[in-house]
Amino acid sequence: MPNTLYRALPATENLLTQLHTAHAALCAGLPRPMLRELVNAFLQEKRCLIKEGCITDPAILGATALLPGLVTFVGQHGMPHFRRVLNATGVVIHTNLGRSLLAPEAAKAAAEAAAWYSNLEFNLHTGARGSRYSHVEELLCSLTGAEAALVVNNNAAAVFLMLDTLCKGKEVIVSRGELVEIGGSFRIPEVMEKSGCTLHEVGATNRTHVADYERAITERTAAIMKVHTSNFRISGFVKQVPGSELVALAHQHGLPALEDLGSGSLVNWQRAGVPGLLHEPTVQETVAAGLDAVSFSGDKVLGGPQAGIIVGSKETIGKMQKNPMNRALRIDKMTLAALEATLRLYTDPELALTRIPTLRMLHAGADAMRRHAVRLQKRVVKAFAAAGISASVVLRAGESRVGGGAFPECDLPTTLVRVEGIEAEALREALLRLPLPMVGRVEDDAFCLDPRTLQEGEDALAAGCLVEAVGGI
Ligand SMILES: *Cc1c(COP(=O)(O)O)cnc(C)c1O
Repeated sequence: MPNTLYRALPATENLLTQLHTAHAALCAGLPRPMLRELVNAFLQEKRCLIKEGCITDPAILGATALLPGLVTFVGQHGMPHFRRVLNATGVVIHTNLGRSLLAPEAAKAAAEAAAWYSNLEFNLHTGARGSRYSHVEELLCSLTGAEAALVVNNNAAAVFLMLDTLCKGKEVIVSRGELVEIGGSFRIPEVMEKSGCTLHEVGATNRTHVADYERAITERTAAIMKVHTSNFRISGFVKQVPGSELVALAHQHGLPALEDLGSGSLVNWQRAGVPGLLHEPTVQETVAAGLDAVSFSGDKVLGGPQAGIIVGSKETIGKMQKNPMNRALRIDKMTLAALEATLRLYTDPELALTRIPTLRMLHAGADAMRRHAVRLQKRVVKAFAAAGISASVVLRAGESRVGGGAFPECDLPTTLVRVEGIEAEALREALLRLPLPMVGRVEDDAFCLDPRTLQEGEDALAAGCLVEAVGGI
């Protein structure tokens, strides 16, 4: 009997051709060898079922009968591994979901840089070789007030480059209260030590004084460094030394003062009237305090592409530019294009707030969030009704988070859309298995969507995802 069943299965090539003919659109993005692998895997699954005695009817093994199942199989397994998801978590700078979204201007610039030749390292005035850094240096200087600027792959690379250039084989003095670990067990002190310098930790976890730094200065000292404690807050009896005082001390001893700002904001959020956001030092303020080099991320609060930006004095930045390690850490052309486009938006703060998604999401107030939640609720209610799903969709006050290790303890008021009457864990898991997966959160036994991180046009997609997921539970 099984032999007859095995023989009833179509040949791979035959099934592949039928799939191609009947479902051209499905096959369009899949190279034929990948498709053949999928068809093979699908047929192998059938052979296993035959072997286990789960299939006994040869009629369901013909090519025509198998085709609908194959379409589903290809739909599920043929998708690119790296793909779009809907972020309904309300965490704006979600490290696991890609941190910052680019402004349309920046996405367009990145796509152009990718598809066409450019003046990446070509000087259009002289027709000779140019510098890839020239495209953003002037903008960074005028936005931050710094004399010079340099961009690398990310902020971890920026910290490494600062220390490798200025402190290799010597000591850098850092406050114990600032030796932070950020996501993915990435520890600032470990990166610092990889650059070949020794950390000289001073002060206590909660308090460090200027005198602590001063006592630590020896002939082995190469720099004094401040690290912004971006993802945690020690509160209570605390003291960290302001940048300006460290600058005075460092310069008195002929040393550079460096700062890793982490997130690095160009916007004063208190002045921008964002409720709940504490004042974090802006890059401009840090530069004005006289730091010789300040580093920050391009894709945290700045809302640009992944990059590490270093601004500071001509002398200090110049040394880093000449460091051969710079080549290994260099920024690529798509990133550079996206960064320039993002920085151009910052020349008009109003424009930056409306065009840069990260800023727009952080800036949305409680009223705007409530209106968005009402619109989303209506869509979901309508979609559920049309699909005959009985679940209640209700609104409840909640909180969104900035994420990305920025503004800890500083939640943004939002309105959550709760799906009640459907097992929350099952819904959460079903949503992850969709072709367009959606990530939300479970609060008080209900699956919740925070509209803050859903972009324009995504409410309809989110409602569709919910319907599809509920149907699959
Ligand atoms: C996030 C962060 C980094 C690392 O920045 P990446 O751009 O992710 O490499 C370094 N230092 C601090 C303080 C940070 O918050």
